[in-house]
Amino acid sequence: MEPTATADFGFQEVPRGEKTARVRGVFDSVASRYDLMNDLMSGGLHRLWKDALITWLRPRREMHLLDLAGGTGDIAFRFLHGGGGRATVTDINREMLAVGRVRAARRRLAGEIDWLCANGEALPMPDASVDAVTCAFGIRNMTEKERALADIRRVLKPGGRFLCLEFSRLALPGWEEVYEAYSFGVVPRLGRYVARDEEAYRYLAESIRTFPDQERFAAMLGEAGLGNVTWRNLSGGIAAMHSAWRI
Ligand code: SAM
Repeated sequence: MEPTATADFGFQEVPRGEKTARVRGVFDSVASRYDLMNDLMSGGLHRLWKDALITWLRPRREMHLLDLAGGTGDIAFRFLHGGGGRATVTDINREMLAVGRVRAARRRLAGEIDWLCANGEALPMPDASVDAVTCAFGIRNMTEKERALADIRRVLKPGGRFLCLEFSRLALPGWEEVYEAYSFGVVPRLGRYVARDEEAYRYLAESIRTFPDQERFAAMLGEAGLGNVTWRNLSGGIAAMHSAWRI
């Protein structure tokens, strides 16, 4: 199917060629407060979700992980602490990676991580070069999600695994209104006072609503040629983890 001329940027439709730059602008603006905002917004839940992702992955010494849209390094740090061998963190945003480098140095993990500024829709990495790919809260921001998934499959070694952690569709009947009020009322306000950017956090809430639900995203993984697709809800579907393999 031919891509349309526009792409969703939260609830707005923007020219397709502009979306990536807009997303980059969002993360340029919030990079220095990004980790603090994650803790405040989720009440620390994002830490448990990221731990769950690594538990599901089961890192091993001989594993080379590509953490796509890895930002400030949370997944890579957990992978290495969990027994993983080597991590490459890629992100389109230099500011996020710069924060990540400082955090890695503090954790004495600088030597085990490569930081690569790249667009996840066109990874500058050889075919079949990594054992696992993770992507936490990143794919939702990409313009050409199908292209990114195809590239993930391409860089995975046969038998390699992709694990994706992303906001998803709430599966707790009766909690929709509370969740809606929190996402569109509290989160942008926190963004205004803590990260000095209300719009960035309104975009977050909107982009969650426009991202495919659990079933649809599982179907997209299959359409990208990945196999054995399964998923698990976290915190009642606020987030979900999808697992898929290059077979
Ligand atoms: N994975 C990190 C985490 O869980 O804390 C960061 C997630 S943050 C919500 C989303 C990240 O996706 C940002 O660092 C942003 O720069 C990155 N990103 C957005 N579009 C991207 C693209 N096309 N290619 C690579 N990274 C992208």
